[in-house]
Amino acid sequence: MKDKQDLESRVVAPGGVAEDEGLDRALRPKTFQEFVGQARVKENLQLAIEASKRRTDGSALDHILLSGPPGLGKTTLAAIIASELNVALHSTSGPVIEKGADLAGLLTQLQPRDVLFIDEIHRLPKIVEEFLYGAMEDYSIDIILDKGAAARSIKIALPPFTLIGATTRSGMIAAPMRERFGITHRLDHYDVSDMMKIVERAARLLKLNADNEGLMEIAKRSRGTPRISNRLLRRARDYAEVKSNGVLTLEASQKSLEMLEVDFLGLDSMDRRILEALVTKFGGGPVGVDSLAVAVAEEPGTIEEVHEPYLIHIGMIKRTPRGRVAMAQAIDYVRELNSK
Ligand code: ADP
Repeated sequence: MKDKQDLESRVVAPGGVAEDEGLDRALRPKTFQEFVGQARVKENLQLAIEASKRRTDGSALDHILLSGPPGLGKTTLAAIIASELNVALHSTSGPVIEKGADLAGLLTQLQPRDVLFIDEIHRLPKIVEEFLYGAMEDYSIDIILDKGAAARSIKIALPPFTLIGATTRSGMIAAPMRERFGITHRLDHYDVSDMMKIVERAARLLKLNADNEGLMEIAKRSRGTPRISNRLLRRARDYAEVKSNGVLTLEASQKSLEMLEVDFLGLDSMDRRILEALVTKFGGGPVGVDSLAVAVAEEPGTIEEVHEPYLIHIGMIKRTPRGRVAMAQAIDYVRELNSK
């Protein structure tokens, strides 16, 4: 198996680094009550969990697929679900499982009703995916013993379990896989008032002395993404400690965001490069993601999973069948940028 840490650190929020992972973990809500926002998703999950707990036939909660951009709380929800069910959470990630045997190793460790969390499930190798179908459908796996003429397969029964898959690319989940999830939810970017609650909670946990205005500035400029607000808050705390007597004021927030090159919309330097290339170099589009990626020297996957969703969310760009197109706002934004 590949090193999970290494793989995980590749899909991070813009500018996010592994260093902040410890902080994310410390700030991770442990109950539905602490989990801010996403009301509809939460309500549906709570209901399904309650119903599953009431059943006495030993069955497990349905498999759950959570999709949405990175840093919105998919992993956090998986942990909350396992904890509410009072079962163990076993976590792994799509690209870490390279072959059927890796998956079999994980599946045979499960206790009845346990939760298996597979992050980035769209990156599971095809052969593993097919292997997973049987496990999801009738809680059994076929293992091939020996090779060549002596090869035979044996069926191993698994306890009923719940698979929670997380993906930043729901479009890349094959139909047979999608059909095997009884519950599917998409997480969306948080609005500013939810972001403010998340930032206030994080500041409280970090025992940070902060003004409301200072926190609001972070909430507004975190692209509706808790993982980003956690990171920006940490940088702002550093700034406040060194330059502002430990108090996170509006000015301290603004200055630290400026140092990080995060603008009034929460856009960072890569977002700006993408918009600039789209508007200036490609005349507003339509342009394919691969050409755009070459122009800004970034991985196409990172553009699609990390940058685009928010640029689409705030109405800067649109995805069309022929490629990405700049909206009027993006054209104004780039004009403003170039006039500075
Ligand atoms: P994902 O799995 O979608 O990439 P995570 O679950 O790892 O995102 O969330 C990243 C961090 O953001 C968490 O560690 C947690 O600190 C914070 N977070 C996410 N969702 C929420 C929420 N609804 N309320 C408060 N904090 C949150």
